[in-house]
Amino acid sequence: MATRTRQRTCIVCRATDAKSSLLRIVRTPEGDVRFDETGRMNGRGAYVCGVSCLEKALDSKRLDSALRIKITSEDRERIATELCASLSHEDN
Ligand SMILES: [Zn+2]
Repeated sequence: MATRTRQRTCIVCRATDAKSSLLRIVRTPEGDVRFDETGRMNGRGAYVCGVSCLEKALDSKRLDSALRIKITSEDRERIATELCASLSHEDN
């Protein structure tokens, strides 16, 4: 049984990882930008390898160009909130 390995690339440092350890940010069909905890949300996705690269992606507007959207401060706050919630799940 052949399983296709999807290689994912961090949009900031270009680190690649075939596993699901990269963080996925998705632009939903509604035009929202969300942190995709499950990796299964519909929409255009971009991957970063960790929190520091996520911050760089937001600061450098790399995420804007990867998702072809203008990321607002509300979007950034929502992503940060969802990311924090996700990370605190993992601690428990
Ligand atoms: Zn990275």
